[in-house]
Amino acid sequence: MPLAEPSQSLDEARHRVEQLKEQINYHNRRYYEEDNPEITDAAYDALMRELIRLEQDFPELLSADSPTQRVGGEVLSAFVKVRHEIPMLSLANAYSAQDLIEFDRRVREGAQGEPVSYVCELKIDGLAVSLRYEDGKLVQAATRGDGDVGEDITANVRTIKSVPLTLPGKVSVEVRGEAYMPKRAFERLNAAREAAGEALFANPRNAAAGSLRQLDSRIAAARGLAVFVYTVVLPERQGLKSHSQSLDWAASQGFPVNSDRGLFTNIGDAIEYVEAWGDKRHELSYATDGMVIKVDNLELQEKLGYTAKSPRWAIAYKYAAEQAETKLNAIVLSVGRTGAVTPTAVFDAVSLAGTTVMRASLHNEDYIRDKDIRVGDTIVVQKAGDIIPEVVKSVPELRTGDEQEFTMPESCPQCGEPLRRLPEEAAWRCVNPSCPALIREGLIHFVSRDAMNIEGLGEQWISALLEKGLVRDAADLYQLRKEQLMTLERMGDKLASNLLEAIQSSKQNSLERLLFGLGIRLVGEKASKVLAQQFGTLDALICAGVEDLTAIREIGPKMAESIVEYMRTTSTLNLLDRLKDSGVNTIYTSGRPASQGDPGSDEAPTASVFQGKTCVLTGSLQGLDRKRAAELVEWMGGNVTGSVSKQTDILVVGEKAGSKLEKATQLIKSGQKPDLLILTEEEFLKRVKESGLNP
Ligand code: NAD
Repeated sequence: MPLAEPSQSLDEARHRVEQLKEQINYHNRRYYEEDNPEITDAAYDALMRELIRLEQDFPELLSADSPTQRVGGEVLSAFVKVRHEIPMLSLANAYSAQDLIEFDRRVREGAQGEPVSYVCELKIDGLAVSLRYEDGKLVQAATRGDGDVGEDITANVRTIKSVPLTLPGKVSVEVRGEAYMPKRAFERLNAAREAAGEALFANPRNAAAGSLRQLDSRIAAARGLAVFVYTVVLPERQGLKSHSQSLDWAASQGFPVNSDRGLFTNIGDAIEYVEAWGDKRHELSYATDGMVIKVDNLELQEKLGYTAKSPRWAIAYKYAAEQAETKLNAIVLSVGRTGAVTPTAVFDAVSLAGTTVMRASLHNEDYIRDKDIRVGDTIVVQKAGDIIPEVVKSVPELRTGDEQEFTMPESCPQCGEPLRRLPEEAAWRCVNPSCPALIREGLIHFVSRDAMNIEGLGEQWISALLEKGLVRDAADLYQLRKEQLMTLERMGDKLASNLLEAIQSSKQNSLERLLFGLGIRLVGEKASKVLAQQFGTLDALICAGVEDLTAIREIGPKMAESIVEYMRTTSTLNLLDRLKDSGVNTIYTSGRPASQGDPGSDEAPTASVFQGKTCVLTGSLQGLDRKRAAELVEWMGGNVTGSVSKQTDILVVGEKAGSKLEKATQLIKSGQKPDLLILTEEEFLKRVKESGLNP
């Protein structure tokens, strides 16, 4: 096929290529390293397509560092690096039946007359993981990283229930698959984050990636992740001849393999299958963004080979994001727990990605203004990541002149007090602590599952208790008596007893649940855990200043200020006193790490030199791996960081310790950190055992 004459000059193209490379690299960082994309996948794919086209038209502009030649993002330094024996590649994309026909033509050319079959598999929207087994035992799990080097995420992957830890028949094998977050788990996670005033994950893929890159495997464990295996590496070692055979083999070894797949002897049937799944896929409990079409015969796969970025024997067909036009009838306001006033679009019901949708968050005033969204407008809505409905744009061409611009009211729609907008914040907030909306949302959060976990005490009971004037804040919950509960409509004897029991037992919760439940601005679940571990008691945290807080790696200056402001408020101190007087525990007594390997005790460890201390591990440890050592330090109340500084309290040195040991010695000798404690591996293990743990 003759190529069309490029419509740009070489100089124009060079300029545009540089721009595109810069933009794509920026979005790669946001997506792969920060798990926080700024643009939709469709918008990203359009940039990538433009770059590919320019590099095809002007081959002299193609360089080895182009994002079209590279897989994924950089490897984060917080994790141990893993080199992949066989590179983990990406996939070439197809957007139409025509692209698939073109793919089939290339494959048949390579097959030189041999028959070709294709396996069609759902493209799960998660992140690729490699799972390595030796003698039937899971020994390592890693992310794809840049394709050659990934991150060691073994501790986190071990917490995924569908990943077998042992295989029948002691096989040594590496398999690869997609780790993903089911839709329900994703919705639950984002709801909790929204309630805590934390940034939301844009889609389940980023949520899964963010969860697997947690240094604390307990957080990953709580996120409800799952895996589908889709590749057996070096399948010939298991005597396999085709991709479909290797999927069956993987399933026989106990791996979760997606059963929704098809085997076809011609591309026409494969295309029909791909198209049939376009709608059906929305009914699945996990997000998919396409279908992967793979040559079945393994010999032919090898013959077709690979480009630097992807195999030539497979292609990912991407479904278009589903969008619909509808009419915006109103913008309603709700006041959240943190006082943020959130506008929501209410529109004529439309069917999107398998469900009926009539509301979508408009986030804040700026969002509405930037998109020029007016009440009465025709708007385009879509489901981001197939789950969260969003307003993509308004269609000004269809305006009649009756549309109304939105203005944020000056006072709270719930209590009438003036709203405030803090510098650098997009949200307008109600700052009246007595605002009924803040109190209600705050209590709902306090009793929620990830906070004080008071089972049975849902939104409706909280509303009823507030309406009756039986509670005004969290401390009042602990004063409730049965006869008071019995005055609520539809309350039965048994239910009242159960609720009181659940309230009572929440008193035993470890400190981090209380901290999270208090709903301190910017303090989410993870930060609450870190604070509880570091300070040990609520009293210690109350006394902490901004500097004490920012000395902790995970706590930034804004969060530190928010904590100090909260803890210094008279009404807070009063609330905390009343909670304590009611017998609510204010000490860190948390459960054991959720990773494999029993630390030896179900109870929290006894007092340890690591409590509240910042610790660095260096050199190669002989008796246990680095990850395990870090987990033990955290379990003993310490915090592990990567480099030695004046903040370091303890350095654990293994064999061949180098510059970190030197730096620590220098800090001690120069008097900058005279009390920095240096422990050998043996001394470290001794202290672990003294704390009642089993390394
Ligand atoms: P990809 O997601 O397009 O395709 C390759 C991946 O598909 C594999 O690595 C694997 O993880 C996954 N996969 C799922 N099911 C599979 C199956 N059954 N068989 C084989 N593989 C399967 O490629 P990528 O390199 O991971 O990511 C590139 C895409 O990510 C872009 O096309 C874009 O959509 C998105 N992205 C978006 C942004 C943004 O800013 N929005 C930035 C970077 C990348």
